[in-house]
Amino acid sequence: ASAPLRYKRVILKLSGESLSASGDRGIGAVEVAHIAAQIRSALDSGCQIAVVIGGGNILRGAQFSGRNNNVQEATAHYMGMLATTINALALQDALESAGCQTRVMSALEMDTVCERFIRRRALRHLEKGRVVVLAAGIGSPFVTTDTAAAQRALELNADVVLKATRVDGVYSEDPEKNPHAVMYESLSYAEVIEKNLRVMDGTAIALCREHSTPILVFNFNKDGNIVKAVAGESVGTWIGE
Ligand code: UDP
Repeated sequence: ASAPLRYKRVILKLSGESLSASGDRGIGAVEVAHIAAQIRSALDSGCQIAVVIGGGNILRGAQFSGRNNNVQEATAHYMGMLATTINALALQDALESAGCQTRVMSALEMDTVCERFIRRRALRHLEKGRVVVLAAGIGSPFVTTDTAAAQRALELNADVVLKATRVDGVYSEDPEKNPHAVMYESLSYAEVIEKNLRVMDGTAIALCREHSTPILVFNFNKDGNIVKAVAGESVGTWIGE
């Protein structure tokens, strides 16, 4: 028997680096296909999925402007939003190759490239079983796609934010630097803030907390994890009340 489906609608937050080969930047064909296949399986289990895609594999506004004095920080953030759109297009074609109907919806108007994010239209796509890939975050500079994931989770009435990362969950310290770091099985929003754990940015945590939207942090590299996550299985760190 298959696991009981716990979540009907999820926001899957994929960092840009989930699309690139480990240690590399840009977009790797194998990685994109791997993610697309996992999303396909999750969709097949009957879950509605909206993906909020990051852009860190190409450019992050805050880091880029620091290195390039001629580019103002606000400009760099818009460049970051465009980076997420590049990723969204790659993911869309990979998802369609994997057999999923997909719509890219951008928070910035880009009529000849993709649809504009319109809440009620996004809901309709989800109800029809299409994967909605949300590009350009919330369309405003100085925030990240984590905030966009929380924001969209609220307005699309998602049951959970699934935050896919390259480690297994939330740790007491950076597990890539300290092998003795311990992973938490569950945390409250308050603990995340108190312990200053780097899970998602502060705005995202605050939004989820205020509206009691749970967050599941898990590893995107492990096969089957996205399917398990939408089935409500414990595959990482669960954050809630
Ligand atoms: N960004 C933005 N507004 C948004 C979402 C993203 O300005 O609503 C910019 C920001 O500069 C961010 C970059 O786009 O650093 C790429 O997104 P993010 O860093 O969240 O990507 P990830 O780390 O998830 O790959």
